[in-house]
Amino acid sequence: MDEDELVRLIARHAGGVAPGDVGIGDDAAVVGDTAVCHDMLVQDVHFRWTWTSPADLGHKALAVNLSDLAAMGASPTAAVVGLAMGPGPLAEPGAVAAMYDAMAALAAACGCAIVGGDTSASAVTVVGVTALGRLPASGAVRRGGARAGDALCVTGSVGAAAAGLAVREGHAPAGLDPDGNLETALLRPTPRVAEGIALAKAGVHAMIDCSDGLARDAGRLAAASGLGVTLDLDAVPLAPGVAGVARALGRDPAAFAASGGEDYELIVALPGDAPAPDGVPLVRVGTLTAEPGVRAQPAGRLDPAHLGWRHRVGDA
Ligand SMILES: [Mg+2]
Repeated sequence: MDEDELVRLIARHAGGVAPGDVGIGDDAAVVGDTAVCHDMLVQDVHFRWTWTSPADLGHKALAVNLSDLAAMGASPTAAVVGLAMGPGPLAEPGAVAAMYDAMAALAAACGCAIVGGDTSASAVTVVGVTALGRLPASGAVRRGGARAGDALCVTGSVGAAAAGLAVREGHAPAGLDPDGNLETALLRPTPRVAEGIALAKAGVHAMIDCSDGLARDAGRLAAASGLGVTLDLDAVPLAPGVAGVARALGRDPAAFAASGGEDYELIVALPGDAPAPDGVPLVRVGTLTAEPGVRAQPAGRLDPAHLGWRHRVGDA
């Protein structure tokens, strides 16, 4: 069972939500005027202690949740943190303080507060964060609002975290990340909070955050909208250094970047002639189509076997 199938099964058994609210199946749920999401980082599934510091872990655990709020157009307000603490670096003096200091710094930068949580002993370390955000008066931006003919755009660039993971896992030479930018993208992602708010205000039709790879998440947005998507691989904006790592892995750079994970950029659907809001770097990477499915152009370059992040740090 893949992750999408598991989520569909859970959704069938989790009970309903109040009229007007949004339950399972978007980046965040909607309860009244509040967006709420939960994402967790699991040791040896999402991170390894060999290449993650306690501060990195704290930053990223909050960042991935703020990214989900951003994808709804919500302004973060508060987060609660569950820490299941296994043996390892967090037992060192100062480590838990460093983890929460990093989380608090990101929270402050994004206008929210860490207001509670829970702790437990555990066999491995797991950090789960529940984040809440205030929705704009216009309501949440959903995945399912795209229209056939809309432009598919992405903020910033993609592929850096996947390239950083390949380097940290030893699949690509460390010399391909001389300034550590790829590693920073993997360990300290910057959620697109202000951009998500601006895109919601601009009235974009649909939005999703890019956590499992551009191609896979674009496909989710399209499917939620009852549509398909054509991706223009030559238009995929590669982060600096990504092409070199992709070539070292024997991969097509654009296909590698489009199928990597953990970019935490925003993928949006909007009319092709709509201007990008001020300060939001939008790159058009495709078109929403009435025909369902994900197609990449030129055909044959995006291997379906490489489509998306499988939530295993050992994957090449
Ligand atoms: Mg998401």
